[in-house]
Amino acid sequence: MTAKETSAKPLHNLNSHNQQDVRVRIAPSPTGSLHLGTARTALYNYLYAKRFKGKFVMRLEDTDEERSEERFTEDIFAGLKWLGLNWDEGPDIGGPYAPYRQTQKENHYSNIANQLIAKSSAYLAYETPEELAALKEEQKAKGQPPRYDNRGRHLSQSHIEHFIKEGRVPSVRFIVEEPRTVIWPDQIRGQMAIETTDLGGDMVIVKSSGIATYNFAVVVDDVDMKISHVIRGEDHIHNTAKQLLIYESLGAKPPQFAHAALIFDNDHRKLSKRVHGEKAHIDYYRQQGYLPEAIVNYLAQMSFTPADGREIFTLEEGSEMFEFARMSKSPAVFDLQRLNWFNGHYIRSLPIESITERCMPYLTGVDTSKYTDKQIQEIIISVREGLSTLAEVLAATRFYFIDKPEINEETKKSIFTNLQAKEVLTRTIQELGKLPYGDHKGCKQVIDSMGKELGVKGKELYWPLRAALSGATQGPDLGSIISILGAERIKSRIEAALASCS
Ligand code: GLU
Repeated sequence: MTAKETSAKPLHNLNSHNQQDVRVRIAPSPTGSLHLGTARTALYNYLYAKRFKGKFVMRLEDTDEERSEERFTEDIFAGLKWLGLNWDEGPDIGGPYAPYRQTQKENHYSNIANQLIAKSSAYLAYETPEELAALKEEQKAKGQPPRYDNRGRHLSQSHIEHFIKEGRVPSVRFIVEEPRTVIWPDQIRGQMAIETTDLGGDMVIVKSSGIATYNFAVVVDDVDMKISHVIRGEDHIHNTAKQLLIYESLGAKPPQFAHAALIFDNDHRKLSKRVHGEKAHIDYYRQQGYLPEAIVNYLAQMSFTPADGREIFTLEEGSEMFEFARMSKSPAVFDLQRLNWFNGHYIRSLPIESITERCMPYLTGVDTSKYTDKQIQEIIISVREGLSTLAEVLAATRFYFIDKPEINEETKKSIFTNLQAKEVLTRTIQELGKLPYGDHKGCKQVIDSMGKELGVKGKELYWPLRAALSGATQGPDLGSIISILGAERIKSRIEAALASCS
């Protein structure tokens, strides 16, 4: 199928939108956990609604009875709320155009389908799944793309009676006029033109089970809910063409459409559950200690560049700057390193009280009650520079909590066997009474002047202490380590290190 941009005149002459009436929606199908792509679509809708003081609507497209599950609805709702993308109307909070769950509107869809039948825009089609499968096989054998051959369009009355006698239950098919070009001015992609010959023939709008299909229910809902702009992924471009035909038959004014580029990985593969497993889902990032502030910023800037070119912006700032004209048409690339960079930025720059609180669930298996709340905060300050996720906080701070940090043999051999190191460690024990605990800089100064007296500086001075106190020669600032650990812990750690060098 081909979608092309065109300079031809649009089929629907849309007026430029009235800012008062902006109503956008996110319409997830609860057939899986919240996908990064859905979160990004929700985010663009949210930003647009806020930008134009409109309404952001949540609608559940739950008509796929076999695959829809309540736990997915819960995951989607929880994920979007965690990201701060709260909606103004939805199945959980109601709204003027309720219900916001498609399963509660089945009769309504059937009634509208009947109106389309009455107008000869749709008809009852009686073929069985086996007949449709055979048709597909036949087309495949001939190397043709699969499509419905519109055989149900002109059934004679006797044929219909015969099918009914056989007990066949009809579906409703919408007539897709061919050939014809469906044109619309896409707010992101520019003028679009889709040939109706690429749409797969007359489309089912109500299945034989009585359930409306996506392309039909979505139009009815968008009309019912007075949606002004449909912002969604580019994978819906052909659906948009189908939906525009339905709008036309219903005599309804279509919304404006904006199709955002899809998200790919570094190997040009579409981000999907099948290829990327849990990493395609928001919940994975929540569990790994990504901050919602970082995720929304990262997702927003993937295809949207503010006019001033900035990369770092909050949800609120994003909603003051958002515009379709600054959206990219090129595929977005999901790059974990870059997300880590955004996350690290927010870990370093959000208020320390908030970061500490968010780190606490990750400090498992260690006894945090050994320290006061103030000290825990200092512990987090001492490591936050090096964190790219909150989950890394445990490994980075474990040494503060355990009785004796593990020091590997290599470090023991290379550092503690040296006479100077023993002197530094022994002298530090004597200085314990002088160290101004709680004052990181002050502690560092005491160590530096001790080093001066001993004629030792740089790594000769710091490494034995770092290794004895934290188990590693790299890590948080030494003054902070000393200041936080306090005399008693320093003493027992240094004694243990000295014992291991003899
Ligand atoms: N339920 C559809 C999806 O999850 C919604 C698409 C649309 O926004 O119309 O892809």
